[in-house]
Amino acid sequence: MNLHEYQGKNILESYGVGIQRGFLATNMNQVKDAIKKLTVLTSTKLYVIKAQIHAGGRGKGGGIKLAKSIKEAENISKKIIGMSLVTPQTPPEGKKVNKILIAEDVYYPGETETKEFYVSILLNRSTGNNMIMYSTEGGVDIESVADKTPHLIFKDDIDPETGLLPFQARRIAFNLGLDGLAFKSMIKFITNLYKAYIGSDASLFEINPVLKTSDDKIIAVDSKVSIDNNALFRHPDYGDLRDLEEENPTEVEADNAGLNYVDLDGNVGCMVNGAGLAMATMDLIKQSGGSPANFLDVGGTADAKRVELAFRLILKDPNVKAILVNIFGGIVRCDRVAQGIIDAYKNIGDKIKVPIIVRLQGTNSESAKNLIQNSKLDVIAATAFEEAAIKVQEVLT
Ligand code: GDP
Ligand code: MN
Repeated sequence: MNLHEYQGKNILESYGVGIQRGFLATNMNQVKDAIKKLTVLTSTKLYVIKAQIHAGGRGKGGGIKLAKSIKEAENISKKIIGMSLVTPQTPPEGKKVNKILIAEDVYYPGETETKEFYVSILLNRSTGNNMIMYSTEGGVDIESVADKTPHLIFKDDIDPETGLLPFQARRIAFNLGLDGLAFKSMIKFITNLYKAYIGSDASLFEINPVLKTSDDKIIAVDSKVSIDNNALFRHPDYGDLRDLEEENPTEVEADNAGLNYVDLDGNVGCMVNGAGLAMATMDLIKQSGGSPANFLDVGGTADAKRVELAFRLILKDPNVKAILVNIFGGIVRCDRVAQGIIDAYKNIGDKIKVPIIVRLQGTNSESAKNLIQNSKLDVIAATAFEEAAIKVQEVLT
């Protein structure tokens, strides 16, 4: 589950991580209120208006703006609320901004220069450890730093058994070139950030920029947080953090119906029972010259109702040029699935304009094939995996 910047910052703050403070607003009354509260809390004179969408690069797209007065902050807020924000990470048509964060300015001048860093914590799957990635090159595109100057990105593995050890936190502050008060502030920042990552069962924390202010505080200016869905049961209070408007509507619909559906950008829709077979099917589609439009595991009970919903979900994607149904009948009987496909097809009616290749293997597969062939539906039946692949290839060319 991905969080908005403001939600991630709330979690960080609850673990004692320093943040750029701000208040959320969805309309102009709340904007006025937020500005008032922020001014009292921080005595800031400048305001940063930050669009809250699930995509990075908002600054580049015009979704982060500095205002030099309350009046200007209100005017900018009016423009940003409701706008369609296009960034390098959104779809080309952009994403509608429903919420904004009115934040304090933290780049104020003072004793020392401000400095932007990059810090992220994630799971290193190849070593089975957590990993802290950090760089002195914060604020900008970390991807281009990784590309052009990879030696400027540090990676430290953290053993989940021992957690972050004090010497590791000191090494990070040292590698970031800090000393004095800023060095101490960074140690506290990293230590609490790691606690927050573990405590919230996150799979990703990406803080870019982490800012050293002119008075040597270390604070999170931005936050990108993903919580591991498998751990959400441990955090009943995180339930409200999910923003369905930011998620793929087809995936939400599938999730509500108990189907495992992941949208992809290919042209062959897949309907498969079992996650392993679904992965193998996607490989097969690739090998036969197509590219999967989705991952879809209909589960063990591929009855007519589920098959019908699965067809409807797949057909929502305008890129789909063919559908491959790949069912292995172990406990589930193929003839029953075949009947499900026939019923679903009839219910959906003439809306299915793309060829459907059905491969049914296992219990009662022969009678399933006969059922499909006798149904006179425009469905191509196959028994072997390779046979199905060849037929997909044929309809695509
Ligand atoms: P992103 O573009 O989606 O990554 O959004 P960020 O929250 O990282 O903000 C983008 C950029 O806005 C930062 O790198 C800063 O340069 C700038 N910015 C953010 N907060 C402030 C602030 O308080 N004052 C000033 N002057 N600039 C800020
Ligand atoms: Mn950022």
